[in-house]
Amino acid sequence: MSHIIHRSLRQTPPHAVSASGITVVDSAGRAYLDASGGAAVSSLGHGHPDVLAAMHRQIDRCAYAHTAFFTTDVAEELAETLVARAPAGIDAVYLVSGGSEAMETALKLARQYFVEGGDERRSVFIARRQSYHGNTLGALAVGGNEWRRKPFAPLLMQVPRVAPCYAYRDRRDSQSVDEYTAALLDELETAIIKAGPDKVIGFVAEPVVGATGGAIPPTPGYFKGVRALCDRYGILFIADEVMCGMGRTGTMFAIEQDGVAPDIVAVAKGLGAGYQPVGAVLAQGAIVERLRHGSGSFLHGHTCIGHPVAAAAALAVQRVIARDGLLAQVQQRGATLKRMLGNVFGKHEHVGDIRGRGLLLGIELVQDRATKEPFAPERKLHAAIKQEAMARGLMVYPMGGTIDGRRGDHVLLAPPFIVTASELSEIVARLADAVDAALAP
Ligand code: PLP
Repeated sequence: MSHIIHRSLRQTPPHAVSASGITVVDSAGRAYLDASGGAAVSSLGHGHPDVLAAMHRQIDRCAYAHTAFFTTDVAEELAETLVARAPAGIDAVYLVSGGSEAMETALKLARQYFVEGGDERRSVFIARRQSYHGNTLGALAVGGNEWRRKPFAPLLMQVPRVAPCYAYRDRRDSQSVDEYTAALLDELETAIIKAGPDKVIGFVAEPVVGATGGAIPPTPGYFKGVRALCDRYGILFIADEVMCGMGRTGTMFAIEQDGVAPDIVAVAKGLGAGYQPVGAVLAQGAIVERLRHGSGSFLHGHTCIGHPVAAAAALAVQRVIARDGLLAQVQQRGATLKRMLGNVFGKHEHVGDIRGRGLLLGIELVQDRATKEPFAPERKLHAAIKQEAMARGLMVYPMGGTIDGRRGDHVLLAPPFIVTASELSEIVARLADAVDAALAP
């Protein structure tokens, strides 16, 4: 019996003993194709020599330096590199150790920004249903997933929620895409007015919804509308790019493709690509300037922020992405994967939607394609797909059940950027087998 509190307390997962490229091997010698990059993390695959060398160099030089005493060249260079690749106006970086920590940091930075401006009344974040922002108490509170929140509800701040941008499920046949988008923005504006514009700190959203929706991209113009509303009411737009950022959608930041710049962006996962636990919050220069001229510090901090080995790994990841032209490769391989999924699942009677951007793709499973009726949650189709996929040596990221009252099952694919076309066809073939086996009566 394991002493670790595993995800399932009834079952210990296989032991991973080695990994290289897009393959992970367990202690029984079974090999698994990593078609989900873990949880959209391993963007360079496993065992990348450049990242390993950069980490080794940094470990030899200086493995740890506390930020109360020092900064390091690698942390400074990483921040400079991220800012150079970030949306317009982003000028400051706070390095943390993961996605939930990045979201907590983003929420506190946003609040302190208003406090330092003498505006202490603001305490409300508006977020979306069917979203995930992490498992710590602040991040959990803004997340739109009631079964995760419910047991901890008395500990969480109250967060008004609006509909996600989920055209496949929510756009009525009688509505054009523009009309649907306008209705979502009306709902957001109503929520801001109801909360009181002078009480709201910001609006939190994932540019491309990851785990809770199976790679749902926004409709055209949605985030331009969000930006305009945030500007009109003087509130901040906080983009959670923990899953969709760092090149995963074919641009360094997913929101670039929507033509707007957020006030604050959280990233993690692909930042360290799994080589180190690392996340970051990026903020508009004006936000940090206000703190600089106000109290002079951000009231935050963790023991491992700006960790030199994590920074070295993340910097190496950034360099490999630039040197090897991996953003273009993500766009190209993403288009190939989407085409392959279309060929195999496009007419499948239980696949309702194939969607996503770059190498963050999802398929949604339905009982009935015409009515979009989902499978019963008790059937746990997503769990069966995961099990059948693992039995076929394939890691995919299925999610499902009931999230904020909505039933559904989907499978998320997020392979490493270095995946080849032949590996993609093997992934799709194994997935097709796994889905059919899971659906078998
Ligand atoms: N935000 C999003 C969009 C995520 O997908 C996740 C993790 O899946 C998080 C935040 C939390 O990140 P972490 O698990 O690194 O704490």
